[in-house]
Amino acid sequence: MINNGLERRIRKDGFKGKIRQGVPMSEITSFRIGGPADLILYPRDLQDLQIVTARCRDQGVPYLLLGNGTNLLVSDRGVREPLINLSHGFEEIRKEGQKLMVGAGTGLPQLLRFCAQNALMGLELLAGIPGTVGGGIRMNAGSWGAEIGDLISSLMVMDRAGGIRLVKQEEVGFGYRGTNLHPEEIILQGEFSLRKGEGPEITKRMEAFLRKRKETQPLLLPSAGSIFKNPQGIPAGQLIEEVGLKGMRRGDAMVSPLHANFIVNEGAARTRDVLGLIDMIQERVYQEKGIGLELEVLIIGEPERAA
Ligand SMILES: Cc1cc2nc3c(=O)[nH]c(=O)nc-3n(C[C@H](O)[C@H](O)[C@H](O)COP(=O)(O)OP(=O)(O)OC[C@H]3O[C@@H](n4cnc5c(N)ncnc54)[C@H](O)[C@@H]3O)c2cc1C
Repeated sequence: MINNGLERRIRKDGFKGKIRQGVPMSEITSFRIGGPADLILYPRDLQDLQIVTARCRDQGVPYLLLGNGTNLLVSDRGVREPLINLSHGFEEIRKEGQKLMVGAGTGLPQLLRFCAQNALMGLELLAGIPGTVGGGIRMNAGSWGAEIGDLISSLMVMDRAGGIRLVKQEEVGFGYRGTNLHPEEIILQGEFSLRKGEGPEITKRMEAFLRKRKETQPLLLPSAGSIFKNPQGIPAGQLIEEVGLKGMRRGDAMVSPLHANFIVNEGAARTRDVLGLIDMIQERVYQEKGIGLELEVLIIGEPERAA
């Protein structure tokens, strides 16, 4: 029990936000998979967040950040570390000319709507990515060649000691689906530098990318988006298709027949089903193509016991 009494102590320290205990992660993640999270904390403001980081520090408890849970594969055995979610108090969008200061708990779709309404261009290619701004920045989310990090000028970040600092774009270390931020550094806000455009034109571009997604991705079934990163020069989906694993199943988990880099949950898939498919794909692609596929999806929670 790594959270022994943590929730009680945090409340006693004056935490005002919401606290949930024993939450099935299958209700939270886009994959609809995952056992119970012992504790999810929804701080309302900076003071709440500082209470959480101070208590975790004092009790030597590691914590994890949770966005919308759209890039996560959570163990069937659940998560013992407290999860911190910023979507109940860190969702402000402030506009200063063509700059936007955006709270990390803001949904990316909400941010894109704001851009269209305010005729700000640059983020259209990210239309349809279902995460939060914090999760998007942490993952350097991107599509069709654009990445969120290209439009960020700086971040406001809180460290485990509760200190807040401004990190300039060039210090974030944005790379392919990642940054060099420490896992316990909490992104509070991103500053985006955008360009002036025409509202209807921006909306049209967003709609075109959404249509393209609907045609090429299995959006009607639960998933965590792309399972693997694309190796240099060749899409992971193409490799998986070429080694004949499109449509392969383990339990209710299936390699999508529409896009082979998606594993979809057809109803009651378990983490171990997905892990079984991941192993099979990595082995087969390595044997037949000599390429080691790296995971894009993040695996969290108590390690699965061998079957
Ligand atoms: C249908 C579908 C399509 C997708 N398409 C794409 C795509 O085109 N391109 C793409 O890049 N991704 C895609 N994804 C994956 C996913 O949406 C992105 O990675 C997204 O950025 C994750 O955001 P999230 O808020 O859900 O983060 P989560 O999945 O909850 O977390 C992801 C990581 O971010 C960290 N994190 C979350 N919030 C913070 C914070 N405030 N501070 C610090 N760290 C934080 C978490 O600890 C974790 O390490 C897709 C997913 C789905 C389901």
